[in-house]
Amino acid sequence: MTTIFAEMSALAVEHGAINLGQGFPDTDGPESMLEAARRAITDGHNQYPPGIGVPELRHAVARHQREQYGLDYDPDREVLVTVGATEAIAGAVVGLIEPGDEIIMIEPYYDAYAATAAMAGGVRRVVPLIPDGDGFRLDRERLADAFGPKSAVFMLNTPHNPTGTVLSDDDLAEIARLCIEFDVIVVADEVYEHLLFDGRTHTPIATLPGMKERTLRISSAAKTFNCTGWKVGWISGPPELIAATKTAKQYMSYVGSGPFQPAVAHALDNELGWVRASAAALQNKRDMITAALLDAGFDVHRSEATYFVCADPRPLGVDDGIEFCRSLPERIGVAAVPVSVFADDRQPWHHLIRFAFAKRDDVIADAAERLRKL
Ligand code: PMP
Ligand code: GLN
Repeated sequence: MTTIFAEMSALAVEHGAINLGQGFPDTDGPESMLEAARRAITDGHNQYPPGIGVPELRHAVARHQREQYGLDYDPDREVLVTVGATEAIAGAVVGLIEPGDEIIMIEPYYDAYAATAAMAGGVRRVVPLIPDGDGFRLDRERLADAFGPKSAVFMLNTPHNPTGTVLSDDDLAEIARLCIEFDVIVVADEVYEHLLFDGRTHTPIATLPGMKERTLRISSAAKTFNCTGWKVGWISGPPELIAATKTAKQYMSYVGSGPFQPAVAHALDNELGWVRASAAALQNKRDMITAALLDAGFDVHRSEATYFVCADPRPLGVDDGIEFCRSLPERIGVAAVPVSVFADDRQPWHHLIRFAFAKRDDVIADAAERLRKL
């Protein structure tokens, strides 16, 4: 079995298609970060770093959260460096869940949530997003129904992959209320925390009253600094939850890779201007791809953040998103991913497809031209 990202990327390669399926940027992060990694290699940072991550990075992560959100974490006991957000998710879920515990997640969900819940013997409960105008919102009735005596973890993802939705403050407050009432730990995947559009701002759930002590916050250099191949992520939270995550993590990867960690620390401290410019450029790319999809005849859902936009091909007479995505690379030379594979109840998502737009403007323009030929 392969992930949908691997399947669609392979089809893109086979047909020489523009890959708007798997989400990764086609330009590098800030030059000073790349230079810091080269320097770290030359300076001999090439052996196992400390298991919890190099001190420079843990301190930079703590500083960053204090400056951005007023969240105070002790870099020695409350921050753990991981092999991307993926390992932070796996470590937290495996570290916190006992077989039979319930883990609540928003549907559609990022594929790693379901896989790691299954590895840990957890039972998945889903809370769907529902269409709301041209965007999505959380189904509040289903949210309340998802909580019960076996609830252990709420896997939160905002900004949300694959829809590009930013959960409202009101939804966050309700999730927080329920997690406190049912004594549930929140694992908050906030990897798109800096990629918001149209003046929107990101609210970490850990900033809500009573939540910091029950939240593990995850982020990653992959999205913020265009370095998906470096696999540098981190997780922050109360010492006992970090300790549980670390216990699992140390038998997954033992440690993360050494020379990239000081480079990411440098970027967190010095390159937030680059990140702001990158988010502004992404907003423009979103507008380009949205216009092309509308011209091609799709209905398009509003993308508020991330580098994903979801399109509905039913006006084109197509209602099977999986088959459509399998045919697109050969038909027009563009790859996308179907959203229904990220859902337990596939029916409401059957038609929907996701395009990733973190690509150079000329690549987006080329993809736009191909889409308009549909
Ligand atoms: N969570 C979400 C919501 C993601 O979209 C991704 C990657 N696209 C990850 C986690 C994984 O992040 P990383 O590459 O840092 O492991
Ligand atoms: N997170 C990326 C996406 O959503 C892909 C990562 C992966 O291939 N697992 O497209």
